[in-house]
Amino acid sequence: MRYRRLGITGLEVSELSYGTWVTFGTQLDQTHCTRMVQHAFSRGVNFFDCAEVYAEGEAEKLLGVALRELPRSDYVVSTKIYWGGTGPNKEGLNRKRLVEGTQASLQRLGLTHVDLLYCHRPDPHTAVSEVVRSMSLLVQRGCMHWWGTSEWSAAQVREAFECAERLHLVPPSMEQPQYNLLTRQRVEQELSPLCTNPGLGLTTWSPLAYGVLTGKYAKGFPTGSRLEKEVWLRKRCIPEVQQCVKQLGALAAQAGMTTAQAAIAWCLRRSEVSTVILGATSTAQLDENLAAAELGAHCDGAFWTRVDDIFAGLSLEAEAG
Ligand code: NDP
Repeated sequence: MRYRRLGITGLEVSELSYGTWVTFGTQLDQTHCTRMVQHAFSRGVNFFDCAEVYAEGEAEKLLGVALRELPRSDYVVSTKIYWGGTGPNKEGLNRKRLVEGTQASLQRLGLTHVDLLYCHRPDPHTAVSEVVRSMSLLVQRGCMHWWGTSEWSAAQVREAFECAERLHLVPPSMEQPQYNLLTRQRVEQELSPLCTNPGLGLTTWSPLAYGVLTGKYAKGFPTGSRLEKEVWLRKRCIPEVQQCVKQLGALAAQAGMTTAQAAIAWCLRRSEVSTVILGATSTAQLDENLAAAELGAHCDGAFWTRVDDIFAGLSLEAEAG
């Protein structure tokens, strides 16, 4: 496993990390979650991603128990605050939400602090200056080492930086955007300059577009797969995409990779990406996906241009999940 710096924080994260969305608490029970975390850790994964909203808090509980087996200084863990339930003050980024949401997350995880805490989405009802003040307060209280954003536009992230500088507060250190062959614009065109200056780290999500980029949905929705259950995620299972995925599979095979491995390695080719957060429901999937880094390292620029050419005609940015 290779490790990359998270922007200018100095923190080292495994270039492939492991997330818990849909899987923990929905598809996998405690025994399986613990096995997946231990397996990932044994293969060099040191970053585990979660959120308060995943399985309505259950994912944090399951991840917390699984992490108890590991030395605290050897792993990096994150959670995300935004959706804390229904009713007044249960959603968004106002100070009450952020402070109380973070406390509740730490309690579920059984930790004194997380390493990274994200604002899971931008909040149109809370001023960015308020968010920066609240996150600075939480850093000072020791609830997390660094704070960041998820699915914020570059303009919103820049505003947070400027606000922190003006008010002598703690700036965001990382952003968590979706990044895969079907959704690439925000990372490559918007956020990339911020990675150079002031040095934002990127922890990217859904490298396989929920599994679509494995090719497993070419002939329908296999029993037990994510898209069999989560019908609302099927938007990108359209013939045009399936055709591209098929071509990706043929090209990947020439390079000795599976379709999934090529899709994951494609994300890693960009130096702005600090870590690609994988999802997996079995150790076999995890092993296949973790091998992508090494296999992809042997591919040259001409190979990635051919991959880009396959997907060039698609315009699915608006379908980001
Ligand atoms: P992927 O796009 O990689 O999808 C993962 C799913 O695809 C797996 O759970 C599995 O589902 C299937 N899969 C994975 N590998 C294989 C394989 N080799 N062969 C066949 N099927 C495979 O990632 P996720 O969508 O899970 O996102 C990764 C992480 O990113 C999340 O866990 C979460 O931590 C984070 N995230 C963050 C978001 C944000 O807003 N900040 C939003 C979404 C995710 P199955 O076996 O059920 O078919």
